[in-house]
Amino acid sequence: MPESVGQRVRQLRRARGWSQQRLAVAAGIGLGTVEAIESSRTRVPQTDTLIRVADALGVGICALLGYPCERDGNALARMEIARLRERLVELERGLAAPKEAAS
Ligand SMILES: [Zn+2]
Repeated sequence: MPESVGQRVRQLRRARGWSQQRLAVAAGIGLGTVEAIESSRTRVPQTDTLIRVADALGVGICALLGYPCERDGNALARMEIARLRERLVELERGLAAPKEAAS
């Protein structure tokens, strides 16, 4: 039983006989992103990436996240909230940083 998103993606991809490159093209993402997901360097992929990969593999995000299907909406909402938090931190850092003169 695969334990991580990366392991699930790899298993589903291999079950289709696809290379990482083929999945990257089918999902419209970079090969490096597929490699990062499958090697679990990216522990939780960005929501849009996750949806692209799931669509390309013909499964729901539940199959990638290891959740029951009825929890898909909650899982997506949690990921969106996590991304918004990260974006807020970035914006706050940007506001706190001293303005530099354009060169
Ligand atoms: Zn589902």
